[in-house]
Amino acid sequence: MDYLAKKYTRPRKIPSTACSGCGLGINHKAVLQAIYELGLEVEDIVWGTSIGCAGRQTFGTWKGDGFAGTHGRVYAIARGLRLALPSEKKIILTVGDGDAFGIGLLHLIHAARSNADLTVIVNDNLGYMSTGGQYGWTTPLGSKTDSSPYGMYEQNLMSDDIDVLSMLKHAGATFIARHVSMDGQRAVESIKKGIRNRGFSLIHMVYPCPTNFGSRELGTRNTIKLYEWIESRAAPLGEEDENTVWATGVYHDASNSRPEFSENIHKNVERIRRGAAL
Ligand code: SF4
Repeated sequence: MDYLAKKYTRPRKIPSTACSGCGLGINHKAVLQAIYELGLEVEDIVWGTSIGCAGRQTFGTWKGDGFAGTHGRVYAIARGLRLALPSEKKIILTVGDGDAFGIGLLHLIHAARSNADLTVIVNDNLGYMSTGGQYGWTTPLGSKTDSSPYGMYEQNLMSDDIDVLSMLKHAGATFIARHVSMDGQRAVESIKKGIRNRGFSLIHMVYPCPTNFGSRELGTRNTIKLYEWIESRAAPLGEEDENTVWATGVYHDASNSRPEFSENIHKNVERIRRGAAL
C-alpha cells in the first residue's frame, strides 16, 4: 500500500474491485495526490460518489465522511450538505460521465449556476461500461461499442458546438479543466486549483476501460494498446491537431469571482430576518 492509500483510504477497499488494467485507479490517485499536496487531512473532506464504475469503485474508499447518490442525484445532495457544513470543509465528488453529463446533467448545471463550492471529478470511461459497454454522451465519433457496432455517429458532448464544458461555463461554473489519465502532474495541478476555488469546480478526466471499451473498439483488452490509443488522441490546449479528441488543460478559471451558493443563501436569510430590501 503506498503512502497516499495508507493516509487517506480504508484498507479493506485496497486493492479496489476495478478490473485489471482499469485506468480509474490512476485518476483516483491523482485526486489523492492533489489533496496531499494541499496539506488537507481526512477530516477536512467529505466525499460523495455516484453510480456506474466511477461511483462503485470509489464508494467508501475515503477514510473520512462520505455519501452516495444514485442516478445523478449526488449533486443535489451535495448542495444540501454544502449549506449544512462549515465553509472550510471541502466536498469532493467522484462521478462518471453517464451520471454527470447524462442523467444528472440538470442537477449538475444547477450546482454550477449556483456556484456551490464543490469539486466534481468526472471520471469518463467513454460510455456505459459498467453495464457492458454501450455508447454514451462522450463516446468518440466512430468508436465501436456494444450499441454502436458500426461506429458511433451521434454528435457527442465533446463536439465543439455542444461541448459540455462550454455549457457548464455558461451555466456559471468558476473552474473547469479536462485531462486524460496519462496527464500526471498536469492533472494534479488542475485538481488542486479546483479544490482551492471557493465555488463550483469540475475536472473532466478521461480514463481507459480495457474490459469493455478496449475490447469493442480495439478488439483487445491489451491495456498498453488502449492507453496509447487515448494518449495519441489527447493534446494540451493550443497544441491540438486533426487527430485530437481531448484538448487537455484548464478551460476556464474564474476562481473566487462570484458569490458562492451557501454564503449567498446565508447572507440573504440574514437580510430577510432583518427585514432589509435587496
Ligand atoms: S468495466 Fe471498464 S471502467 Fe469499469 S471497472 Fe472494468 S475496466 Fe474499469
